[in-house]
Amino acid sequence: MVILKKILLLVFLIVVSFTQCSQDYPRNKEGKPTSVGISNYITENKYHIIDEVQLFINEPIYDIEIYSDDLREYTSHDSLELGRTYIPGEIILTTEERYVGYELKSTPNFKKKNLTYDDKFVKGVLIHEIYHCYFNQVLREMKMMGFIVSSEYNNIVYVPSHEYGFGAEFMEEGFCEYMTFNMGECIRDKREFKPKSIEEIKDPNNISKVKYEYALSFVEPIIQRYGIKYGMAVIIRNKPPSYKEILTPQIYYDRLESGLEKFPVQDSIALSKNPE
Ligand SMILES: [Zn+2]
Repeated sequence: MVILKKILLLVFLIVVSFTQCSQDYPRNKEGKPTSVGISNYITENKYHIIDEVQLFINEPIYDIEIYSDDLREYTSHDSLELGRTYIPGEIILTTEERYVGYELKSTPNFKKKNLTYDDKFVKGVLIHEIYHCYFNQVLREMKMMGFIVSSEYNNIVYVPSHEYGFGAEFMEEGFCEYMTFNMGECIRDKREFKPKSIEEIKDPNNISKVKYEYALSFVEPIIQRYGIKYGMAVIIRNKPPSYKEILTPQIYYDRLESGLEKFPVQDSIALSKNPE
């Protein structure tokens, strides 16, 4: 009898896990995730997605709370916003029906071909927001350990200089986008946008192209060269890029490299390079 119960329980668990795996989340007439679907997807997958990120960076991220809600009802919402993070760890993803799908990785290849950088997925947006929490965690860790932190990263909202404040935001967004792309949950266009003048950087029509798309490829060589965590430390302890440096990345990269000599040895040990 006991054995029979155990078998029944096992069968029940297998059926439950099978139905959970094969569950298809609802889509609207345009094939986009519905508000209810987005909400269910977040509730059912958030811990798993946090785990995936932690596994990817090989480090825990502390105290994250994830919710979904209609961000249009929140203050200072702009039309580009799909997710927002209240530092240190509260994430809200919008339930508006604006994502093209739930997960990029599970999208069939023939559909992937037609996607552009602006096509966002629920999972990709969530991963991007989780990396904001991680960015801030590393910043706090550096401060606690007594390392230099460039003040512009300290509290992006209150930065007095608009130019370097922009630079700090640009680097953080670029980092989050690059990591999301690295995890296979963000599309990159073959021809990426590259600003040619300061006016193009400041142009309100280019916000998303500069601060996300171009920032991704700007941050990429830094993480590739120094690793994830050490690369973040290199970014955070240096003054953010100016507009001129954003236009000519090599000047900024050289500045980072020349600053390395000033790193106390223990910094390099404590924030050891991630093998990639
Ligand atoms: Zn962001």
